[in-house]
Amino acid sequence: MHIGIDVGGTKIEGLALDHGRELARLRVATPRDDYDATLRAIRQIVAALEAHAGPAAHVGLGIPGAIDPDSGLVKNANSTWLIGRPLTIDLESALGRPVRIANDANCFAVSEATDGAAAGAGVVFGVIVGTGTGAGVIVHGQLLTGRHAIAGEWGHNPLPWPDADEWPGPPCYCGRSGCIETFLSGPGLAADYRRSTGVILEPPDVVRRADNGEGAAEATLARYEHRMAKALAAVINVLDPDVIVLGGGMSNIERVYRRVPLIWGHYVFGATEAGGHAPGSSGAARVRTQLVRAKHGDSSGVRGAAWLWPAR
Ligand SMILES: [Zn+2]
Repeated sequence: MHIGIDVGGTKIEGLALDHGRELARLRVATPRDDYDATLRAIRQIVAALEAHAGPAAHVGLGIPGAIDPDSGLVKNANSTWLIGRPLTIDLESALGRPVRIANDANCFAVSEATDGAAAGAGVVFGVIVGTGTGAGVIVHGQLLTGRHAIAGEWGHNPLPWPDADEWPGPPCYCGRSGCIETFLSGPGLAADYRRSTGVILEPPDVVRRADNGEGAAEATLARYEHRMAKALAAVINVLDPDVIVLGGGMSNIERVYRRVPLIWGHYVFGATEAGGHAPGSSGAARVRTQLVRAKHGDSSGVRGAAWLWPAR
């Protein structure tokens, strides 16, 4: 039996998982700005899950940040009260057993590569496109954390192959402009629609208007798909994944799975006519990478945390 804990900005969710089968699940409000209370909440969740599902030898934890491989301290967390804390050691001491901690987008990728939409694939790039953009890399079943624990952090790279009106791009909270996140996140799509119409809408409403034939909404989604194709083509050129899995709120836009693969061939190295294939044929056909929607939806974070300890 595996226990996974997903520490979010508003809730902490716990899951007891037995070979992919959910035995128990519960969630509590995150004690914001209180590190000791966060440790206590996690300990209580683990105890409650074990009362229901039996003992677990380890615990996996997903956080909106990462453990610095050199110092062992939390970094890059938007749950700022975790930053600089030795969370792994403190939890191992509180729980009396080994704990593994990974970035929440990495947990998402682990979940989808283990028994989700990319199960069995060799190289997987798992992307969360929601209020922000995060991603994780799985190579032959192994999570790639990287030297700085930032592998997959592609959302704050600049949008590649920018058109004139995409440069320098919108300002990003990270201090730069034109980050992929400023275009592909939900707020990024909403901002694009607002720039062209002056109207503030949530992304699902933009999609609905495009479905109803509104030109401005359709143009916003077409720009969105083109930008996602460019951003993911750059990933394909570096990582060459078998499968790219999308999660988060923007993964609910059904049309991206059809349209983005029709565009990305123009940017993937060797997939265009300049790369040497027959004139007139579509570059898209030469890109074998699959773009798929997450299977486990919002559960992927906590499931992936549980899967941080491999099944035995
Ligand atoms: Zn940025």
